[in-house]
Parts: sequence; structure tokens; C-alpha cells
Amino acid sequence: MIDFRSDTVTRPCTQMKKAMFEAELGDDVYGDDPTVNALEQYASERHGFEGALFTSSGTQANLLALMAHCERGDEYLCGQNAHNYKYEAGGAAVLGSVQPQPIENEADGSLCFTKLKSAIKADDFHFARTKLLSLENTIGGQVLSLEYMAQAQRFCEQNQLILHLDGARVYNAAMALDVDVTQISQYFDSMTVCLSKGLGAPIGSLLLGDKAFIAKARRIRKMLGGGMRQAGFLAAAGQYALLNNVERLAEDHDNAKYLAKQLNEVKGFNTSAYRVSTNIVYVDVATDIDIETMTTELMKNKILISSSYVGMRLVTHKDISQGDIDTLISVLKKQFN
Ligand SMILES: *Cc1c(COP(=O)(O)O)cnc(C)c1O
Repeated sequence: MIDFRSDTVTRPCTQMKKAMFEAELGDDVYGDDPTVNALEQYASERHGFEGALFTSSGTQANLLALMAHCERGDEYLCGQNAHNYKYEAGGAAVLGSVQPQPIENEADGSLCFTKLKSAIKADDFHFARTKLLSLENTIGGQVLSLEYMAQAQRFCEQNQLILHLDGARVYNAAMALDVDVTQISQYFDSMTVCLSKGLGAPIGSLLLGDKAFIAKARRIRKMLGGGMRQAGFLAAAGQYALLNNVERLAEDHDNAKYLAKQLNEVKGFNTSAYRVSTNIVYVDVATDIDIETMTTELMKNKILISSSYVGMRLVTHKDISQGDIDTLISVLKKQFN
């Protein structure tokens, strides 16, 4: 199958599987898994934080961050389109009694500081306590600039807010900005990283922050049922991903640009409303095209997409080659040109 639905669909390569197979294991709930310990040690140093925690998913890492930073009755500021507002089943509210205060995202994915400022609640017992600002980079495939993140840090200092980054695709952001990932992480009190997206690990994310924060998050992870035993199998994949699959993200970004260019050659497809900055391509599809027939036709050719008319999303990743893009385009052209 050629799968354009997400970069989460990547399969571990042979070398990654070998690293998993050969991983030294122990019981991580006892703190005994040397491979998990090595990954957490490496990840904290690599991203410039005191501590790191290996988590089962990005959703869990975000939830741990919000629950470790905030108490019951606190709130966090975030975007309407933020993953940790819109796509995590309301976890912070449900499990942490922490309410979100979402702000409309600007067209570039950022949050306007004037709007954020007016959403901060006064110290008054009528109100939830505004505790934290959560940003996302990349967001919808778009990259927040270093200047913007520096401004966000100043904003949070001035307003006594904690600054968290949902960095599920932070390596894509670093690649697009052509900086080391620490140039991004330096602005944040905590950050999450997904190992299981473009980096190609089968499972796992990282939560990064200071020692006390990570210790608190570790306790909450246990409470949520996220204490994993011989998790070194998975940590080995994550370590392999961080060491071997970062540089190649450039290929995904080049392929995304190529894909967007080629899609515009298909009748009824138009990407001009969107900018391709990383590995995510959005395309508007003419309403006279029958989406269901299109996806069925693609399926027959072993191509998977998530379909819609406005802003249909296609994602490039390590298991999509330029040849796969050519295959998609030729099937679409046969149908519509
Ligand atoms: C995928 C994603 C997550 C969550 O990751 P899962 O591992 O799927 O739970 C969080 N934030 C963003 C921005 C993501 O894209």
C-alpha cells in the first residue's frame, strides 16, 4: 500500500528491528531497563533539558505535561486547532480537571499575543487560574519562527505563565528552519517529541523538562496505566530513530513540495491556498469530483488517502518515494484529466 494518510503509518526498517531485537531489557517500572534509561538520558541531553520520560504516545506526553504543570482548577491557553485541545479527547479536562482556554489560530498557525493577553484571567476566585501557554510546532504542517517562539517566551515571563511545546513534529520544524532542534527547545519549559511519526519508530514519544517536573510526570504516567515493563524494545526503536532518521526528513519535505506541484497538474485539484513548509500537503478538490469514487479507484491501485473537498491532507514520510507520488498522480490524471 502507498499510504498518504499520515506519517504515523511508517514501518520500522530492518536495522531498526535489529536494534529492537538486540535491545538489553529490564523492568522499567523498577527503573531497571537499561535501554529506556539510555534513551531518557540521551534525549534529555540532546534536547537541552534536565530530564526526559519515554511515553506510550504523544497524547500521553501532552496529558502528563498539562497534569504535571497544572493543578485542578487551573487552565491552559492553546490554539483552537491545537492537538492537545482538539484531538486528545479532552484528556486534560477529563483526567486532570484542567480546563483549556482556546484562542483562534492565525492563518500561519501562531497565536496572537494581544488575544492571549486578554484571555488571561485576573486572580479572582470566580476564575480558573491561567497557568500555561501551549504552542505546537509544526502546526498543520506550518512552522512557527524562532522570533515568534522567543516572543512567546517573553510573553510567558511577563505574565508568569509556563510555556509548553507540543513538538510532535518538532524535528520537521527544525529541518524547515534549518536549525538544530535545541534552537527551538531552548524557549520552552517542557516539550514533547513523537518518535512514531516522521522519525519512523513504531511506538513512543518523549516528554522533556526539568527534574522535578519529570518526576511528577513519571508518577502520573504510572497512575494513568502508562508504566511499561520491558519497554527497552520500544526505546531501542526510538533511539535508532533519533540517531538515524532525522536528516532524511529533508527528503519528505522535498517530496511534499513535489507532490503539491504535481497535484496542481490534475484537473480539479488546487494547492494554491496552502503553503508547503514541511511534510504535509493540503489540497482543495473541486466539488464535481465524487470523492468516494476517487478513493475507491485509488484503493484499487493500492493507494490510501484521507479524503475531503476542502483542505484534503496528504502526508509524505519515509515509506513514500517520488515514484509513489508519480503513481498517485498518474492514477488521478487517468481519472480526471
Ligand atoms: C500526532 C500528534 C500528537 C499525538 O501523538 P499520538 O502519538 O498519536 O498520541 C500530538 N500532537 C501533535 C501535534 C500531533 O501531530
